[in-house]
Amino acid sequence: MTQSGLGVEGIALSGTAGSHQAFVTLVTNADYAMGATALARSLRRTDTTADLVVLHTGGVESPALEPLAALGCRLVACDLLPLSESFNNRHSRANVHGAAPFTKGRKPAFHSPLDNFCKLRLWQLTDYERCIFIDADALVLRNIDRYFAYPEFSAAPNVYESLADFHRLNSGVFVARPTLETFDAMLARLDEPDAFWPRTDQTFLQTFFPDWHGLPVTMNMLQYVWFNMPALWNWASIGVLHYQYEKPWEKDHPKTAQLQPLNDLWHAFFTGENIPEIANLPNPPASSPL
Ligand code: UDP
Ligand code: MN
Repeated sequence: MTQSGLGVEGIALSGTAGSHQAFVTLVTNADYAMGATALARSLRRTDTTADLVVLHTGGVESPALEPLAALGCRLVACDLLPLSESFNNRHSRANVHGAAPFTKGRKPAFHSPLDNFCKLRLWQLTDYERCIFIDADALVLRNIDRYFAYPEFSAAPNVYESLADFHRLNSGVFVARPTLETFDAMLARLDEPDAFWPRTDQTFLQTFFPDWHGLPVTMNMLQYVWFNMPALWNWASIGVLHYQYEKPWEKDHPKTAQLQPLNDLWHAFFTGENIPEIANLPNPPASSPL
């Protein structure tokens, strides 16, 4: 038994699957539990037939999980991954920010890079045939169930600045098929001696699945597109809106004013009050109708 009581698997698959498909997110502290609450409410409004699974670590107290239970989420307790001490040191917040500084945006203080790797526990959810992982800092704005038919491993490009962004995927949304074989292979690859993954799970997944399949960019519309590439913005086509870097529930951050309409939308989903008709929202000024 480990200290958390979850055993060597590090996960407690309590409850039963209600579907062979699940949307999965991860929360390791109260801040991301707030994010997951808005995400779960947004998913419920799409009338999805899939389960909503929340992987949560011991860093989340039970009151923070209550809204998620009330939204009918399957709560799955898990530990952080069993990684070597040297791996954990290399991927501490201070080391990641020092070795590979973030120059384009700022990560909130409550973001721990090491916790990101815990997403890989999705591959342990073997009572599902297909899962769509979605970061807790995202909203689903229309029904996206058809993407469960996409193959492993599918993700959208990490587009928020320029054409060069198409070379990389963003791991905030991905389609995967849970199997323990894959999970074990991932753990072995992840913690090879001296391995350093500068953008954590994202760099790892892109390396592990070099021939990744593409999801449309609308399946992971990054918030910086709003001001950097407004021609790409079209509310009516957005499946997933992803608040990468600064979070909409931070009291104040360097881009609060620029992102006000997006922050307001997130708060509507978080509280459940005055959620607007998405297709009627105004696009950013320089957008081009699709
Ligand atoms: N996460 C978490 N706790 C952390 C860091 C990350 O629960 O301390 C989870 C959460 O689901 C989050 C995701 O991992 O949405 C990835 O982190 P984040 O969204 O902050 O990264 P970004 O999208 O800004 O690159
Ligand atoms: Mn994110």
